[in-house]
Amino acid sequence: MQRFISFKNRLFRSVTTRLTFFHLVLFGLSSLVVFVLIHLSLSYTLLELTDKYLRDEIKEEENLFNVSGIKKLQQEFFNESLGEKRFSVFYLLLSPQKKILASSDLQPWKSFSPILQGFDSLKEGDEIIQTLPRPGSKHKVRVINKKIQGGLILEIGKSLKDNDEILESVRKIFGYGFLSMFTLGTLLGWIISKRAMAGVERVTNTAIQIDRGDLSRRVPIGKEGEEIKALAQAFNNMLDRIQLLVEDLERVTNNIAHDLRSPLTRIRGMAENMLTNREDIHASQEMAGAIIEECDRLVSLINTMLEIAQTDSGLARLTRTPTDILEVIHEAIELFQPAAEDKGITLTARLPKTALMIHGDKTALQRVVANLLDNAIKFTDKGGKVVITVKEDSMKAIIEISDTGEGISSEDLPHIFERFYRGDKSRSTQGNGLGLSLALSIVRAHGGNIDVTSSPNRGSTFTISLPHEPTN
Ligand code: ADP
Repeated sequence: MQRFISFKNRLFRSVTTRLTFFHLVLFGLSSLVVFVLIHLSLSYTLLELTDKYLRDEIKEEENLFNVSGIKKLQQEFFNESLGEKRFSVFYLLLSPQKKILASSDLQPWKSFSPILQGFDSLKEGDEIIQTLPRPGSKHKVRVINKKIQGGLILEIGKSLKDNDEILESVRKIFGYGFLSMFTLGTLLGWIISKRAMAGVERVTNTAIQIDRGDLSRRVPIGKEGEEIKALAQAFNNMLDRIQLLVEDLERVTNNIAHDLRSPLTRIRGMAENMLTNREDIHASQEMAGAIIEECDRLVSLINTMLEIAQTDSGLARLTRTPTDILEVIHEAIELFQPAAEDKGITLTARLPKTALMIHGDKTALQRVVANLLDNAIKFTDKGGKVVITVKEDSMKAIIEISDTGEGISSEDLPHIFERFYRGDKSRSTQGNGLGLSLALSIVRAHGGNIDVTSSPNRGSTFTISLPHEPTN
C-alpha cells in the first residue's frame, strides 16, 4: 500500500505526467469549444430550413385555398399527411372563432394544443412561427400561423424530431471521436513526453552513477532534440573538466606527499643519528645544520605551493606599476652571471635601445625571469650558451630565454608546466618541479603567456609574452 502511494505521488510529480495532463486539458477544452460552436450553428441552420419549409408550405396552401376553395384544401391536407407523415406534420384551417374548418388527420396530435402567443392580434397576411412543447414526446414542434382572407387562419405544425435526430447523431459522432482521440492523445502524449524526458533521465542516471564513485561515466547523446543534446553535452564537458581537476588534484597530492616524505625521512634519520651519537658534539652540530637546511627547503616548497595557489585563484595581490622590462632583465643577468661563469656558460642579452614599459609587478616578474634563467643554466652543460632576447611585437613585450642545453623530450614537453612535474633526466638535479608552474601563474595573472619549443640535445627556448603599455 505504502509503495502504491509513493508510486502515485511520483507519478503525479513527474514532468511527463504533468505535460501529458496539461496537453489533454488543453485538447479537451479546445475540442469542447469547437463542438459547442458546431452544435449551435447546425441547430440554427436546421431550424432555418424547417422555417423555410413551413413558409413555403403555408404559401402553397393559401394559394390553393384562394384558387380552389376549402374542399380542395381539405383534400390537400389529407394528401400531405398520409401514412407515417401524419405523426410529424399537421395542417389546420380555422375560422376567426378558432373553429376547425378543415384539417389533416389530428389523431396523433390529440394532446397538442397550439396556443401561439400573439395569435389573436394577427392581421391579414401576417404570420408567426414558434416552437412549442408536445406533451408525451421529447421532441418539440415548430408551428406557423397565417391570417388569410376573411379572417381565416391557416396553421401548419412540424415535429422537430428529424432535427433532433441529426443533432443527436452529431453529438454521438463527436462523443466517440472525442473518446478515441482522448485515449490516443493520452497514449501519444505520454510516449512523446516520455521520449523527450528520456535525455533528462539519462543525465540523472549518470549523475547517480558518478555519485556512487564512477567518475568515468558520461551521458550518452540521444536523438530527443537540440536542447536535450546541449544539456547532455554541457554535462559531459563539465564532467571532463571535473575529472581533469580531480586527476590533477590526485597527482599534486601524491607529489606533495612524496616531496614531503623524502626530506622528512632524512630529517628523522639525522635526528636518530644525533640521539645515538650524543658524545660526538661536532657531528651533532653538523647534523643540526643539515636539519635546518632541510627544514628551510620544506618551508620554501610549501611557500611556493601557496604562492602558486594564491596567484592562480587571484588571491595574491600583484602590485602592478609601470615597469621597464629591460631593468628586470639587467638585474637578472647581474644576479646569474657569476653562476653561468662558474659553469663555463656564456650568458648574453640582445636588448632594444629604449625602455619597454609594461604594467606589472616587478618583484613577481623578476621571479619569472630568475626561474627560467636558473633552469637554462641548470640544464646546459659547460661551453653552452644562454641568450636572453627582448623585443616588441604589436601590443606585446616578448622575452625569449634560449639555451643550448639538454633540451626536453616530446613526452615531457606537454607536462613541464604542471605542478611538481620534473623530467626524467632532471630528477638528479636540484629543484622541486614548481618553478615553471609559478612562472606561468604569474605571467597569466599579468594577462600573458609562456610558450616553449625544444629539441633534445640541442636546447630549449622559452618565450614570455606580456601585454605592454602603449607609449603615447
Ligand atoms: P625544476 O627545475 O625544479 O625541476 P621546473 O618547474 O622549473 O622544475 O621545471 C620542470 C621540468 O622542466 C624540469 O624538471 C625539466 O625537466 C624541464 N625543464 C625546464 N626548463 C628546462 C630547460 N631550460 N632545459 C631542459 N629542461 C627544462
